[in-house]
Amino acid sequence: MIGGQGVAVVSRFAPSPTGRLHLGHALSAIRAHDLARAPSAGRFLLRIEDIDEGRCRPDHVAAILDDLTWLGLEWDGLVFQSKRRALYAEALARLQARGLVYPCFCTRAGIAASSAAPHGTAPVYPGTCRALSPAERTARAHEPHGWRLDMTAAVAITGPLAWHDATAGHITADPAAQGDVVLARKDAGTSYHLAVTIDDAAQGVTDVVRGVDLFAATHIHRLLQALLGLPPPRYHHHRLLTDA
Ligand code: GLU
Repeated sequence: MIGGQGVAVVSRFAPSPTGRLHLGHALSAIRAHDLARAPSAGRFLLRIEDIDEGRCRPDHVAAILDDLTWLGLEWDGLVFQSKRRALYAEALARLQARGLVYPCFCTRAGIAASSAAPHGTAPVYPGTCRALSPAERTARAHEPHGWRLDMTAAVAITGPLAWHDATAGHITADPAAQGDVVLARKDAGTSYHLAVTIDDAAQGVTDVVRGVDLFAATHIHRLLQALLGLPPPRYHHHRLLTDA
């Protein structure tokens, strides 16, 4: 299939190997696969999102590959996010150099959850560590910390943003509603938001197919694309499978 800019479709399926695939994953994978294959010429990539090494397991990776094969899907490339940490660190360093992220020493469970894809809405961070002075940050630099986006500074730089969703149409981005999201968690050095944004661009993904439970995340991804000078893909957020 040829995309809007005359470029062959590159789609991806990006499961986190924290468990077995469910039917919703199968729907995403089949849709992404078919978008790249029909009528021809596109590429369907598989990306294992295993940055949370405490929760991801090799046996789940093997089961995911088995299930995709059983579904009759063939992929054109397979990457593991755990092998791509240097890319995420480099992007974080660029944001650090521009003062768009700040260290966060908070130990809330919300920080621990942030390397996983946020299916649904997370509570907005009250900004505690944004208020720390440079001296306080220096004094605590040896303590374990993550990095949060300074949302107000970020949206002031980018101005208004939008993206195209195949189902919902033209969407005005509203990342500010989600506050200072975590871009690097303490123990993973990155986050779902940062890794997925970097990888979709680095892999030349033209079309992101995923469940509508990740719709809110796209507001953040659009903002990160603008901050890092990355092209926005087209989005296809599909309905969730919720019953028999
Ligand atoms: N890794 C995420 C998940 O398993 C999906 C990420 C995405 O498609 O952007 O839910």
